[in-house]
Amino acid sequence: MEFLTNIFQGMVIEDLFNLGGLAVSFAAVTLALILMSKIDQIQQLKKSLEKLKRAFDELDEQAKLIVKTDLALNKTQEELDKKVASLYTLHKISRLISTTLDEDEIFRRINEQAVSELGFEKGLIIMRGTQEEFSCKVCVGYPESQIENLVNTLRHEAIFSHCLREGRSLSSFNLIAADREKISRLFLVTSFLATPILTQDGISGVLFLGNASGQLALTEGDEELISILANQLGQSLENAKLFEEAFHSKLELESKIHERTKELSNALEEVKRISKMKSEFISAVSHELRTPLTSIKGYASILMAGKVGEIPAAVKERLDKINKHSDSLVKLINDLLDITRIESGKAEMKLEPHHINEIIYSVTDLLQPQLKEKEIQFKTEVSQDLPSVLIDRDQIERVFINLLGNAIKFTPSGGWIKISAVDKADFMEVAIADSGIGISEQDIPKIFEEFYRVDNQFNQTLKGTGLGLSLVKYIVEAHQGKIWVNSQLNKGSVFYFTLPKLKK
Ligand code: ADP
Repeated sequence: MEFLTNIFQGMVIEDLFNLGGLAVSFAAVTLALILMSKIDQIQQLKKSLEKLKRAFDELDEQAKLIVKTDLALNKTQEELDKKVASLYTLHKISRLISTTLDEDEIFRRINEQAVSELGFEKGLIIMRGTQEEFSCKVCVGYPESQIENLVNTLRHEAIFSHCLREGRSLSSFNLIAADREKISRLFLVTSFLATPILTQDGISGVLFLGNASGQLALTEGDEELISILANQLGQSLENAKLFEEAFHSKLELESKIHERTKELSNALEEVKRISKMKSEFISAVSHELRTPLTSIKGYASILMAGKVGEIPAAVKERLDKINKHSDSLVKLINDLLDITRIESGKAEMKLEPHHINEIIYSVTDLLQPQLKEKEIQFKTEVSQDLPSVLIDRDQIERVFINLLGNAIKFTPSGGWIKISAVDKADFMEVAIADSGIGISEQDIPKIFEEFYRVDNQFNQTLKGTGLGLSLVKYIVEAHQGKIWVNSQLNKGSVFYFTLPKLKK
């Protein structure tokens, strides 16, 4: 300022005029310059403003997007929550129906609460019976009076029958508007779902679920969930049926076993009764026969001894035959009486310790003449230090006499017989082997039967009663032993039997 004041002080008027014009021009230029700068600034501001506006618009867009995304997220979350809840309910109902094997109980467990937890107000389960009849097993949300009507509709309505026959579900979601409205009207619902119940017999029923209020709308996921439930239901019903069948089979089997056991025990009683009757009969007849037979034998002996006078040689010969036949008859009767006595448990075994060697020795001594006569080579293989056996000596001697007698009888001259005894852990095993005619495979099981004699040439000429082996078997069994035979036709036989050892 001081500088400008100095300039003005040094100027004249003209100069001042000139100076005034100059100043105006200067001011105008300055103004113009200022104006230009302002315009420039305004331009800059305008640009900034536009930038800001654009940024603001972008922000607005983003905000809107965020709100939209948030809404979508909330919806998804809601759907997820619903799905989780439905899955939980499905799991709960599935477990409920699969933990019972009673068909009625399965249906009882799909009650109002279960239907409601699945998100429905109404529910029906219609099942097909064995006679193709249909019955309502579960009814929720409908009065009893409507059941028959609803069953008939589900059964006959073409919209249902078509889909269900193919094993497909139908719902207010997948039906055309006209069909949807029709079903809604018939079942008094706004949204619904019907799915077949499949078992091994095919489509056994229908599960129908529906809602009357609009808020409880159906989603695609519901259809899937309810199909899973229907499958589970089918499986549980199948299990219940199988269990029922298995249970009935078991009962049937038990009653059959019971029946058979009863029949068998009756048959056994009958066998026992007949066997007792047989024993009593044999015993009675044998006793009746023995007395006259003793007289016959006695008289024959008196006559033969010449006590009533001399008799001719021919009569003597006949009397001798009478005597021999009487002897075999007495033997037969005695054997029969013994069998019946042992069989009925009347013949008590007098068990005493004995050495088996002694018995073998005394029996072979007894049968020596016959062995010699047939030139049969006889061997024994019995160790001296065998333990004692606990036996009724007389009875076991009869066993040896019978078996050895048979061996001699059925072994042709020049053959061999061998008796051996072995100490087995719990018993003594005796074997009487011969090189005789042997026994065929089909005769082996029969030879221990009473009166059984093998039909062969030997038996046609040899005498016998067919009672020897039966008696032997009874005696061995009365000693808690066993008897069996190994034999081959034309090669020989080995008869084995066991005897109890004396316990130390
Ligand atoms: P029996 O000797 O009186 O005929 P058994 O009861 O003693 O009656 O024998 C039954 C049948 O068994 C005999 O008739 C005979 O056919 C057969 N048998 C028994 N022992 C022998 C043997 N050692 N060799 C071949 N056959 C035998």
